[in-house]
Amino acid sequence: EMFGQLTSGLESAWNKLKGVDVLTKENIAEPMREIRRALLEADVSLPVVRRFIQEVSEQAVGVGLIRGVRPDQQLVKIVHDELVKLMGGEVSDLVFAKSGTTVILLAGLQGVGKTTVCAKLAFYLKKLGKSCMLVAGDIYRPAAIDQLSILGEQVGVPVYKEGTDVKPSEIAKRGVEEAKKKNIDVVIVDTAGRLQIDKTMMDELKEVKRTVNPTEALLVVDAMTGQEAAALVTTFNVEIGITGAILTKLDGDSRGGAALSVREVSGKPIKLVGRGERMEDLEPFYPDRMAGRILGMGDVLTFVEKAQEVMRQEDAEDLQKKIMSAKFDFNDFLKQTRAVAKMGSMTRVIGMIPGMGKVTPAQIREAEKSLKIMESMIDAMTPEEREKPELLAESPVRRKRVAQDSGKTEQQVSQLVAQLFQMRVRMKNLLGVMEGGSIPALNN
Ligand code: GDP
Repeated sequence: EMFGQLTSGLESAWNKLKGVDVLTKENIAEPMREIRRALLEADVSLPVVRRFIQEVSEQAVGVGLIRGVRPDQQLVKIVHDELVKLMGGEVSDLVFAKSGTTVILLAGLQGVGKTTVCAKLAFYLKKLGKSCMLVAGDIYRPAAIDQLSILGEQVGVPVYKEGTDVKPSEIAKRGVEEAKKKNIDVVIVDTAGRLQIDKTMMDELKEVKRTVNPTEALLVVDAMTGQEAAALVTTFNVEIGITGAILTKLDGDSRGGAALSVREVSGKPIKLVGRGERMEDLEPFYPDRMAGRILGMGDVLTFVEKAQEVMRQEDAEDLQKKIMSAKFDFNDFLKQTRAVAKMGSMTRVIGMIPGMGKVTPAQIREAEKSLKIMESMIDAMTPEEREKPELLAESPVRRKRVAQDSGKTEQQVSQLVAQLFQMRVRMKNLLGVMEGGSIPALNN
């Protein structure tokens, strides 16, 4: 089972939270330790683990039961989303030249599966309807050229070769020229793999890259090597400048560390993954599917996502209707603030409002404090005042009464009233509805 250990480590984290009403700093401490241990055992690099745990903890604290979704189930979703983010979020597609032949340069240490990837990639591209050619530039490893020729024949793709006595950059140059002449869609240039990084290898690679000016320069790394793979991607990127990585041998007893670390450590995406020795075992790297596999809790995720979707839709529709008709009043304001407090995190609500970016935990705490103050003022309003904020805007006497009853200053009440109207206008503007949303001047 791929990532089996990581999956079961995470599972024991959820189990510790069954039955809690709300996630707190205290009750998530032990599960977070479990997750941390599971990630470290999966060979994810320590700084990545630290950041991950911090992100997840910040989002988790304060999460309670929402619409039948238990806190522990929501935590699964939080961890899932953070895993996806860690792996780069979206799938990172191969880039093709706008016109003419696309050149893909493949680099990698010996034994990682580079030669196999050359053929697999050609096979994959053929399925996409692209014509391909392979260029045999690995002149050092015994039999690499023969191996490439055999695999090329197997997938029905021509292999350009000049033996082992010619400089790789010259082979690459002529190979690419040949492909262009034949109007081949994609030419894949194999390069020398060595047992370890050395200056000769890097210099040679730099020269090949300069010569063929590739659209994609991809480093092939072995998933079994864990965070070492992530470090290699970083090194090659710094030395050569690469566009991404191909992660092989994900089918083996890979612990997952490479898949989780490459993007975060190197800043470069994993574009494709190999999960077997057959030619068809190469596919795009989908961070969300990978996160799902790691968690192994597809049903819980689907459940939480559905609930969140319904909630988002209802709230958004409701809010939009209110805003469009300028009916957003203090009751809505209160409902919003209470919903926010219950969720413990404003991020999601704010995320729903276009134009508002990510908020920090400190900002959330600050916001929650001022929400409490607002609540006490709104509590002191009459039902009529809540529905018709204009009443408060027009009457200093009413504002004074609200201030006295809530123990706040008249200025704070005025600010709150002004804020509501500003919110109406701002939201209307955000929705592109400009008319009819002026801010009334408060009568004194
Ligand atoms: P190179 O030295 O980097 O060119 O590596 P090769 O392409 O010769 O591959 C080395 C070994 O790894 C071969 O036995 C391949 O069959 C095997 N291999 C390559 N990719 C994968 C993969 O995704 N999964 C598995 N299980 N084996 C692979």
